Amino acid sequence: MSIDRAKLHKIYRYILDWFFPNRCPRCRTHIGWNEDFCPECADSMEIYEGTADIPSVDRFTAYCVYDRNISPVILRFKHTDAGNTYYAFAKRISMALERADMRSGIDCIVPIPMSGSSLKKRGYNQAELIAKELRYMIDVPYDNVLVKIRDTAAQKTLGREGRSKNLKDAFAVNPKYGNIKGRTFLLIDDVCTTGSTFAEAARVLKENGALNVYAASFAKTPNKHKSTPEEIPEAEYEEQTEALRNSVSDYIDAP
Ligand SMILES: [Zn+2]
Repeated sequence: MSIDRAKLHKIYRYILDWFFPNRCPRCRTHIGWNEDFCPECADSMEIYEGTADIPSVDRFTAYCVYDRNISPVILRFKHTDAGNTYYAFAKRISMALERADMRSGIDCIVPIPMSGSSLKKRGYNQAELIAKELRYMIDVPYDNVLVKIRDTAAQKTLGREGRSKNLKDAFAVNPKYGNIKGRTFLLIDDVCTTGSTFAEAARVLKENGALNVYAASFAKTPNKHKSTPEEIPEAEYEEQTEALRNSVSDYIDAP
């Protein structure tokens, strides 16, 4: 990828900021055109320092722990693509890759795909939005190498075993992409919980001849204790989601 495209993208973001001033995705404070989070929110995130043993994935990293401090930002991202969130997540993933020394040797960034019907419903794939920004940050192209070939139940409703079964044969290599033999891929998603999604995507890539499969997410549920967002009591979760829905209109001042 030429450096010029990355430069052009920076100019685009700089100009965009004149019309849609950049905001922190967590607290909505105005921030500089090339910033991701405000310093307070950046400091509030708990850095992910665990390791995840994900089948078929050679190396994994995440930027922060998926906790109650950060879950509102992630939930909001699932309801609207507005704002700076995908840029902020990509920036933090690039920092995590740097930290884990995982930036070299990657041929292609691959977003975790959504099924056609889910994509139609939501209008965007958040993993793809992140991948599109990340390519400029680590100078590696992105492509939809995988496609989701069948609908699956929402992963958050299932346990670890159910999640693996639910995803079995849900992904396939995109026939448009061509030969993947001997290549190294970086799978991207906003959140990693049990790792089942990355595992299934990586399995398909490996079965089709991929040499290495790395995976990275913005947030990862902690390995040891159990305070995952899925375990927030239903009423509280609903309340939080409703509050986010109501606040979505506040976010449409940025693309
Ligand atoms: Zn903030």
